[in-house]
Amino acid sequence: MRVLICGGGVIGVAIAYHLSLRGAEAVVIERTGIANAASGKSGGFLALDWCDGSRLSELARRSFALHAELAAVVPDGGYRRLTTFGGFSGSGGRKAGSWISERIAIERKLGSTETTAQIDPAGFTRGLMRAAEAHGASLRQGAVTGLIRDGGRVTGAIVDGERLDGDAVVIAMGPWSILAAAWLPLPAVYGLKGHSVVYRTGDAVPPEALFLEVGEPGGGVASPEVFPRPDGTTYVCAISSDSPLPVDPAEVAPDPGAIDRLTAIAARISPVLSGAPLIAAQACFRPVTEDGLPLIGAVPGLRGAFVATGHSVWGMLNAPATGEAMAGLILDGDSREVDLAPFDPGRLRPFDAARFRTE
Ligand SMILES: Cc1cc2nc3c(=O)[nH]c(=O)nc-3n(C[C@H](O)[C@H](O)[C@H](O)COP(=O)(O)OP(=O)(O)OC[C@H]3O[C@@H](n4cnc5c(N)ncnc54)[C@H](O)[C@@H]3O)c2cc1C
Repeated sequence: MRVLICGGGVIGVAIAYHLSLRGAEAVVIERTGIANAASGKSGGFLALDWCDGSRLSELARRSFALHAELAAVVPDGGYRRLTTFGGFSGSGGRKAGSWISERIAIERKLGSTETTAQIDPAGFTRGLMRAAEAHGASLRQGAVTGLIRDGGRVTGAIVDGERLDGDAVVIAMGPWSILAAAWLPLPAVYGLKGHSVVYRTGDAVPPEALFLEVGEPGGGVASPEVFPRPDGTTYVCAISSDSPLPVDPAEVAPDPGAIDRLTAIAARISPVLSGAPLIAAQACFRPVTEDGLPLIGAVPGLRGAFVATGHSVWGMLNAPATGEAMAGLILDGDSREVDLAPFDPGRLRPFDAARFRTE
């Protein structure tokens, strides 16, 4: 069976990996490059139980376990267990560790090495694609601009004007999955922009993730997340915006002033960050749906058409179990490990493609 997967972010790659493990031919079609969007610019933070009490719990717990197994499959994926703390700028609370500014109070422990972990998102996604390729998957560089239909069945995709045939097609283009609403009855997927910076911090920062509330120099309160990585870098993200999603993923760029704000916030968090070389300053869009749950399943009313997107702030975490479940759904007609019913694309009304504004 030949499956075309539109989108080479962590979700498309995880689907390709699990399909190829099961002997199917997976072809990932990617417009810019594997992990060039959110899947290469996110925090890469993983939590066992932070989705408990929501409909994501089973997917998250299964994914957390799969990430631990995948550490051996993707040795350069930066997998590591972490301790995680929450805090705020101001006095009170427990004294911060020596690398954190004395103006930050650590309020509580949010996770232990049993419950929180991390990956390097770009290293993990690209490494998982290499693992999929070792099992027979392939990458086709190009933009998907339409699908091929034969009656009630999807039989391929149009890639840079050329026809590519397949037995099934999966839409996994992150926020750009909204483009597929012009080709299929798909619910809306929106892009919510976030900014991040990466510093070279060497061994000055221990494996402690931080979720903070920090007063900004110009007023207001930001909610930065700080993830030191095993490669001697430290990632800081904050500052969401509702800037429009460009049609070409290569055109995503930080909002004016956002990186200056973010580096000022980072300097408030730690003198290590204010003195460290900045090695990346970037923005990306997380894919969100109308009810906050991902779309994972078959597209209603058509054979051979599937979607996996809308993972919002938990796409890196939930990719492995999404890939495993999608492989089961496509090859066996059902997912054994995770109940996909809460993520059925048919629960939301299709987006009206006449509302597109692409200028
Ligand atoms: C600032 C920030 C921090 C985050 N931190 C975390 C975190 O710590 N933990 C966590 O679990 N999640 C985190 N997330 C969320 C996570 O990054 C996303 O949920 C995840 O990356 C989505 O993956 P995806 O594969 O669905 O989409 P994407 O990574 O956006 O991939 C979609 C791909 O489709 C391609 N594409 C687009 N159009 C076309 C086309 N026409 N043809 C072919 N290909 C196309 C794009 O080039 C892109 O590579 C964060 C997100 C942001 C923004």
